[in-house]
Amino acid sequence: MNEAVQTSSDFTPRVFSGIQPSGGLTLGNYLGAMKRFVDTQETGVQSIYCMVDQHAITVWQDPAKLRHATYELCAGYIASGLNPDKSILFNQSQVPEHAQLGWMFNCVARMGWMQRMTQWKDKAGKNSQNASLGLFAYPALMAADILLYHATHVPVGEDQKQHVELTRDIATKFNHDYGVDFFPIPEPVIEGAATRVMSLRDGTKKMSKSDPSDASRINLRDDADTIAKKIRKAKTDPEALPSEADGLEGRPEARNLVNIYAALNDQSVDQVLAEVGGKQFSEFKPILADLAVAKLSPISGEMSRLMQDTTEIDAILAKGAERAREIATPILKETYRIVGMVGA
Ligand code: ATP
Ligand code: MG
Repeated sequence: MNEAVQTSSDFTPRVFSGIQPSGGLTLGNYLGAMKRFVDTQETGVQSIYCMVDQHAITVWQDPAKLRHATYELCAGYIASGLNPDKSILFNQSQVPEHAQLGWMFNCVARMGWMQRMTQWKDKAGKNSQNASLGLFAYPALMAADILLYHATHVPVGEDQKQHVELTRDIATKFNHDYGVDFFPIPEPVIEGAATRVMSLRDGTKKMSKSDPSDASRINLRDDADTIAKKIRKAKTDPEALPSEADGLEGRPEARNLVNIYAALNDQSVDQVLAEVGGKQFSEFKPILADLAVAKLSPISGEMSRLMQDTTEIDAILAKGAERAREIATPILKETYRIVGMVGA
């Protein structure tokens, strides 16, 4: 057995997470994922971050747009503060071991588990007979993304909690069926004031990069005027802001805007309400817009710079894939050996 592979329940902490290049990045991706990846990287734990292009194609992606979105996502990671020398930053399809371990997990996961996934129900909708097989199987590939690195912690937004739980089920079943203690049981890490940023048009719906309505989201590359306009037009209720978090009960749109403010400013909701409680939205929205512009425009500017010449990104991704494979290859090989595949 390769000595690089850990096989005990005492796994070294390692962080993995990914984002799909399925459109432009949103404020939800930034606050729920990217900003937290950067904070994690700074703690010094080994961190691996991925552009999951093979997840993106579970729904139709125009090839030129997919390529552009992958570059833009990589630029977004770097512009948000991810350091490709400290963290491993790579594109999923450049590490073929993901698809290989994904297949193994297709054979571990059960149909019933997949049918219970709320994201499958939401994304396939009423027309599930016409959805791709990949969309149905996607959580098994996500489990492979995580377990291929023996990751122990997975920072994600609230919407991905169920998928990380499925990853735990897959790891547990594999270990049990083969009588090994090979895969760690990873923990979802869902923290901060904005674990679920909601649509600006509907406070009960998640902000998503694939939402057909551009007004529903703030894109990291929106200019200052667009950000201000979207916040000004965001749905709200007629009441003033409360002074305490309890007062946000039953007010999803108000809660969302306060959460966004808190997360952008690294404050708690109570701290924000202590400052802005009693204000009308007509007064709060411009303050929020100014904060959003101040925090996002440096990121957007750096993304534009990085996008001007993609050779720098190509080099970062090639290096990232190489480093990722150094970890992934022995773990895949050991998985094959455990399962009984000849040649492993
Ligand atoms: P899509 O609509 O194509 O699924 P998405 O915006 O949901 O795109 P993903 O690539 O699926 O983005 O998710 C990337 C990361 O961003 C995940 O960790 C996810 O939990 C997080 N995330 C996505 N949307 C939000 C949101 N509205 N609030 C907080 N975190 C979010
Ligand atoms: Mg999503």
